[in-house]
Amino acid sequence: MLNEGFGTSARRSERVLLRIPIRVAGNDNHGNAFDETTYTLVVNRSGALIVVEHLLPLGAVIKITNIRSQISCSFVVVMRAAGSMSGTPEWGVKCLKPEMEIWGVHFPDRSEEPAEAGLTHVLLECRKCSSREMAALTVEQYRRLEAQSFLPRLCPKCQVIRDWKFVVTELGLGGVSPSLPVPAPSGLASQDEPDRRRDEHLAVKLPLEIRLPDGSEETTKTENISESSLCFACDLEMQIGDRVYVSVGVDPPGEKRDIPARIMWRCPTQGKGRAFYGAKLENTNDAAAASNRSLVFAEDRRVQF
Ligand SMILES: [Zn+2]
Repeated sequence: MLNEGFGTSARRSERVLLRIPIRVAGNDNHGNAFDETTYTLVVNRSGALIVVEHLLPLGAVIKITNIRSQISCSFVVVMRAAGSMSGTPEWGVKCLKPEMEIWGVHFPDRSEEPAEAGLTHVLLECRKCSSREMAALTVEQYRRLEAQSFLPRLCPKCQVIRDWKFVVTELGLGGVSPSLPVPAPSGLASQDEPDRRRDEHLAVKLPLEIRLPDGSEETTKTENISESSLCFACDLEMQIGDRVYVSVGVDPPGEKRDIPARIMWRCPTQGKGRAFYGAKLENTNDAAAASNRSLVFAEDRRVQF
């Protein structure tokens, strides 16, 4: 399995790159009490990767409050991240009461998921009550969601069938966009498009094949997608500016095609040279061909703006 989580040996739920404002209170490695307003980078059911300026002793118990919901919970510090894009220390923390769902996202148990291979995990929100779920969708459900940008399904809170929609997120990983030592790829989103649009990502875990010019390749999943970019984690060693070829989506292998993309940022994670990468598709027509994503975003814009 890819990236097993935040210092735990087995990931118990899908993770999602989500920037959630939090307050962290505890004692630093000098024993001094602190209270810091910060944010998450990645969350899953049982933990998170968070940014905390104070140095934390491993094994320490800290209190995290979700600023929006005001839900608080105790966490154990389990690891310090190997790399940091923000320059601020990043920490893996494990929740002591995961059933409280402090992140406001329901991460279904495997037993709650459809018994089918090739599920696609998507962060969805009930249009009525705004409940969020890292939903496991069948290929058929995902295609339907992609085509009409909403999907009717049972909302546990509303207790009836509701329309669920994609959640538009920030990039996660601190909204990483370091200065980019690569020429602006041609054919990307037009200049008059608001910058904000380009920062809109959907947390969708689509099958993704990465191929390097030297022939090495890896199969992974996207962490999130935007109109013209992808974020993913993989073991291949790539540098900013590298050109790669990606093939993405739920289509059968024979119907997918390689799309040139450029590595725009990388963020190392724990162990074995694994890293999160951000890649820009070099041609928006390719992006549209990769999935019906342009349709999704167009629809999303109509609904939201
Ligand atoms: Zn609902």
